[in-house]
Amino acid sequence: MAQSNEWSDKAETTLRHMFNAGASAALIADAVEKTRSAVCGKIKRLKLHRESGPIMTRYTSKPHKKPTPAPLPKFITEPATQPVSILAAKRHHCRAVLDQRDPNGLAMFCGARKVAGSPWCAKHKRKFVITAYVGRA
Ligand SMILES: [Zn+2]
Repeated sequence: MAQSNEWSDKAETTLRHMFNAGASAALIADAVEKTRSAVCGKIKRLKLHRESGPIMTRYTSKPHKKPTPAPLPKFITEPATQPVSILAAKRHHCRAVLDQRDPNGLAMFCGARKVAGSPWCAKHKRKFVITAYVGRA
């Protein structure tokens, strides 16, 4: 075949030399003025094998520092509250009924402070409102 994709001895020598030096197919393609796939095909036909080691690529990456992770946002934690018995609950106690019983076998409320305009504390309001919204969809 006498086509433009014929490999000259010089190009083949360059390919072998660069391949052994660890150059990538794209880099070799630039040097011998062929396509990357032509270089890959030639490497395969020549049965060249690269054991391991660094592969030089067209793009030299700078050794970059690992980005330090941003500090996690500080969550506002509600003070831990004790559940209150349904009979001991005050006006300000969250009305979310827990899956617990007091020693007398009565239901227990959450006991956290209610959010203004809501029968629940922030945690339960968030939980119930989101649940209701999801349930509607
Ligand atoms: Zn609550």
